[in-house]
Amino acid sequence: MFNKILIANRGEIACRVIKTARRMGIRTVAVYSEADANARHVRVADEAVLLGPATARESYLVAEKIIDACKRTGAQAVHPGYGFLSENADFADALAANGIAFIGPPASAIRAMGSKSEAKKLMGAANVPLTPGYHGDDQTPELLHREADAIGYPVLIKAAAGGGGKGMRLVEKSADFPDSLASCKREAISSFGDDHVLIEKYITKPRHIEIQVFADTLGNCVYLFERDCSVQRRHQKVLEEAPAPGMTHERRRQMGEAAVAAAQAVGYVGAGTVEFIANQDGSFYFMEMNTRLQVEHPVTEMITGQDLVEWQLRVASGEPLLLRQEQLQIRGHALEARIYAEDASKGFLPATGKLVRLAPPAESLNVRVDTGVEQDDDISPFYDPMIAKLIVWDEHRDAALARMRQALADYQVAGLTTNIDFLSRLVACPAFAGADLDTGLIERQK
Ligand code: ADP
Ligand code: ADP
Ligand code: MG
Repeated sequence: MFNKILIANRGEIACRVIKTARRMGIRTVAVYSEADANARHVRVADEAVLLGPATARESYLVAEKIIDACKRTGAQAVHPGYGFLSENADFADALAANGIAFIGPPASAIRAMGSKSEAKKLMGAANVPLTPGYHGDDQTPELLHREADAIGYPVLIKAAAGGGGKGMRLVEKSADFPDSLASCKREAISSFGDDHVLIEKYITKPRHIEIQVFADTLGNCVYLFERDCSVQRRHQKVLEEAPAPGMTHERRRQMGEAAVAAAQAVGYVGAGTVEFIANQDGSFYFMEMNTRLQVEHPVTEMITGQDLVEWQLRVASGEPLLLRQEQLQIRGHALEARIYAEDASKGFLPATGKLVRLAPPAESLNVRVDTGVEQDDDISPFYDPMIAKLIVWDEHRDAALARMRQALADYQVAGLTTNIDFLSRLVACPAFAGADLDTGLIERQK
């Protein structure tokens, strides 16, 4: 096992990784930008290294600076968290070239899953069910238009390199296709530097159900069941839960085995998530694989009793998976709400400012708060405005829901606008409370 690791991230996920490392007796190095000099992740790490100015481009995204920080501190491995460099294959290669371990999959697996269209070609070959659509190399606008017509409207145009809900356009009818394609390509270039797109049949009233997978370097691969992340705004997750309401044993096994096949097809190692879009009848299709620890991993930890960061650290240091498939079990129900500094009434406009008062609900076996900030800290305009993740657990969904309602009511934040009232209304609405889930739930609540 490593003696010292560097966490190439900030905020709640950096704090989350440090917590497990500390429990395992591993020393931690934080990195930070000038805007984060007093940030919580810097305060809780054993050591910290300044990277550069506030913008991520000049700090958290500069691979050479991270590698230099490893060398200066003697960190043997890097945990990339999510976002930033976590799905950057060149970064994983650069670490390897410098003899530093990457706490994540091999660069080849990141590359294989990095393009949604290339990934779909590989998954098709591995017999993983695919969302119907076009994922070919020919990007001639006329050909794409003909493919969209053949798929039948509505269709979704997606940036192959996209992520975080960006670079997607819903097209309702053929006449709208050319303009939507042009605008999707513009966004894809500016956000991802790559305007390659794919086209998918737009599934109506679908659910987003994803499978947590884990593989080690010895050839073992398991699934740690599913998360339902259907409650989204602008294709971004807001509430997540595990297990998925209504999931049958048989469907869980099918989805789990499809996810394991997906991981094995690219020689996967470590924590990964295979995202599926599911019809209300339960049929499901591969959307993409996220080759990293997911924001919503805590709900899986709550229902399995496992620490996924510990699993990541053990696998990255060459140890076998902690459990076999038949040793894994689901216990109870967990829900997660993403607490954001944002104005839900103004199109979820990000808010910034000082957390003049910040008092989260008390943590217990039933309530977990993953956060990167404390009272008097600032939410700056430079990064994702997430304040915390609130995770609750209980024996059954209804009891977990009651815990979530109470925890949201107890959450005190003053000084800036948050989405807490919005979340409270959302968890209380009949559709969510009744587990009548699909990705359009939030739109309909407005
Ligand atoms: P999850 O599925 O783990 O919830 P998200 O898709 O919400 O992940 O993304 C997690 C974080 O990573 C967010 O901060 C998001 O903005 C960022 N992110 C995800 N994919 C990309 C990408 N391709 N490029 C840039 N940022 C990304
Ligand atoms: P990202 O990389 O941004 O996470 P995804 O391909 O995972 O992109 O899609 C994000 C979300 O967009 C999904 O969770 C789902 O709500 C919606 N979505 C994606 N593909 C489809 C589809 N074919 N039909 C309907 N909704 C979709
Ligand atoms: Mg996704």
